[in-house]
Amino acid sequence: SEHFYEERGALAFFMEEKKSWKMENWYRHLRLKHDVLMSESKPVGGAWNFDKENRKNWRGEPTPNSLRRPKHDHTKLWGEIVESGITTFGNPTSEAFQWPLSREESLVMLKDFCSANIRFFGDYQDAMSVKHQTLFHSLLSFSLNLKMISPQEVINTVVQELVEDRENIASIEGFVRQVLGWREYIRGIYWAKMPDYLKSNHFLFGRELPGWFWTGDVGMNCLSTTIKQSLNTAYAHHIQRLMIVGNFSLLAGLNPHDVHHWYLGIYIDALEWVEAPNTIGMSQYADGGVLATKPYVSSSAYINRMSDYCKGCQYSRKEKHNTKSCPFDTLYWDFLSSQRRFFDKNPRMAMMLKNLDRKSDEEKSLIANHAKVLREGIEEL
Ligand SMILES: Cc1cc2nc3c(=O)[nH]c(=O)nc-3n(C[C@H](O)[C@H](O)[C@H](O)COP(=O)(O)OP(=O)(O)OC[C@H]3O[C@@H](n4cnc5c(N)ncnc54)[C@H](O)[C@@H]3O)c2cc1C
Ligand code: SF4
Repeated sequence: SEHFYEERGALAFFMEEKKSWKMENWYRHLRLKHDVLMSESKPVGGAWNFDKENRKNWRGEPTPNSLRRPKHDHTKLWGEIVESGITTFGNPTSEAFQWPLSREESLVMLKDFCSANIRFFGDYQDAMSVKHQTLFHSLLSFSLNLKMISPQEVINTVVQELVEDRENIASIEGFVRQVLGWREYIRGIYWAKMPDYLKSNHFLFGRELPGWFWTGDVGMNCLSTTIKQSLNTAYAHHIQRLMIVGNFSLLAGLNPHDVHHWYLGIYIDALEWVEAPNTIGMSQYADGGVLATKPYVSSSAYINRMSDYCKGCQYSRKEKHNTKSCPFDTLYWDFLSSQRRFFDKNPRMAMMLKNLDRKSDEEKSLIANHAKVLREGIEEL
């Protein structure tokens, strides 16, 4: 259909003879095939990938422009839901539902994104801040997934911006990579690997989600901020989903199927074809590496580098493996240590394992003991 560039089975066909299903190969193939950001079969700007330029943290400047978002009054509908006694969670914002419900409203958001925020999308796409929930992101996934606008028109409109601003190739390529590369790739994985994909549980993790996943009432500022934002707005951007909630879920050993259902229930743009591979594959590595070449896990160092969450947190990055220290740090080292048999031969994990090996036996034992305390006391974090 016009709502995707490729047929459902195209990724599997393209990857048939290939050893690993690398997104990058697929992305370059689609750039060439659909003539997106190409000039005489060469990538515009002289490179396929400007990812290295897209890794800045955001400290309050530049100011993101507010996208003109619709406000729909759904109080009557919400009243009926409440009266029917249906159990709900989060904040429905029924008096001012902010998501587009028509093609016209979606096009306004696309236009606003291009005139206001695409300029800085690339630079700050991985940044997170308590001061701003959406930064320079497009908020277009809902419109795309609900088929109110097509990926072709989104990409054509964004690429048109390059004519206005030749300097902005890193941002525009970064955005095209998300829609043409990742979105088409994720969909291809879904149709190639289902239905068994949903049952994947590489690490055999089975811990229940803590109750605070439904309230955000947790002392870890990064998780509290992201979960509360998600419950209130049905939105978190990619790095919040991947490196805050997903990262914690994997390090804590939560059941990947429960995690999958949580994401499916929380986000406005969640449809199974796109949510499941992102959660089960990219975020929880439950598929054993079909989608991601290594698990997306980090200690607090990454979170602190890319956000301002740690400043307002009750946990300290300076303390080590005790009740005051950052739980991410203990859980991260414990995950690497307890699951290392899966990673020993993975060259992309070599640096992480080398750092683990530098730790003394005494610290390793502290880590293992405190990780146990954290997992058992997960409700109290
Ligand atoms: C655990 C997890 C669960 C996710 N669940 C969903 C989901 O249910 N629905 C969904 O649409 N996206 C999902 N994503 C991908 C991504 O986080 C969202 O598409 C993005 O945050 C939507 O916000 P945006 O429109 O402002 O995106 P922007 O940052 O502005 O990106 C532009 C567009 O690129 C596309 N895109 C970017 N990354 C991906 C990706 N990994 N997979 C597919 N499309 C992508 C989206 O259509 C998005 O609108 C998930 C990611 C993770 C890590
Ligand atoms: S100190 Fe740890 S728990 Fe607190 S915000 Fe930073 S990473 Fe999150």
